Amino acid sequence: MSENNVNITIANRLATAHDKISDASKKAGRLPEHVSLIAVSKTKPPSDIEAAFRAGQLEFGENYVQELADKAQQLSKLENLCWHFIGPIQSNKTALIAEHANWVDSLDRIKIARRLNKHCEELNKQMNVLIQVNISDSNTKSGIALLDVANFAEEIQEFKYLTLRGLMAIPDEYLDKNKQKAEFEQLNTCFLALKHQYQTVDTLSLGMTNDMEAAILSGSTMIRLGTAIFGPRTN
Ligand SMILES: *Cc1c(COP(=O)(O)O)cnc(C)c1O
Repeated sequence: MSENNVNITIANRLATAHDKISDASKKAGRLPEHVSLIAVSKTKPPSDIEAAFRAGQLEFGENYVQELADKAQQLSKLENLCWHFIGPIQSNKTALIAEHANWVDSLDRIKIARRLNKHCEELNKQMNVLIQVNISDSNTKSGIALLDVANFAEEIQEFKYLTLRGLMAIPDEYLDKNKQKAEFEQLNTCFLALKHQYQTVDTLSLGMTNDMEAAILSGSTMIRLGTAIFGPRTN
């Protein structure tokens, strides 16, 4: 495909995604503007991000620190781009994340929170953070248990340069819709309790290309779409 066709395709996919968000929100009795869309651009070239930006998309998600740093630098001329770091975090990478991300959606260790806070203090920068929860209790995944969320949230209050915005989860791919619904509802209950306790909390990041409708029905306020916007990833 020519670059122009790629750009049109990305713009069309974004429009389709917004239609789906709208439909699912209506079904849930919610307002579509209460569900934000993060375009997950990992492994995709900066030209794809720019195409999405030209079609009105401002928030992007990246999983790999060096890739985030490179793209953020290359695209620094685009105004109001907002970068979410959504991947696993190694402690020796926290300085680069602090420098380039506006949100860290995958926080699940106090040690990382402390280091991020220190780097953000040096940069005099406020960082939005989401606590990553492992709702499916799979030991292959990052994230803390739902039961530990309250304590973790309390502990990160001492970090003045981190603003707790809510929770993020990457659930298993479910075959059983009832089990999926039960887990999504548990997560939403935990989110609502946190929101009640902390004024800064307003975000439940749940839902990807394959489960966005179910996530919106269960209260998600932020979905993360990769494949649905940029097409399949080959690497
Ligand atoms: C890759 C990724 C996504 C996007 O997944 P798709 O299925 O392509 O929409 C969303 N969230 C996280 C944390 C990811 O790593």
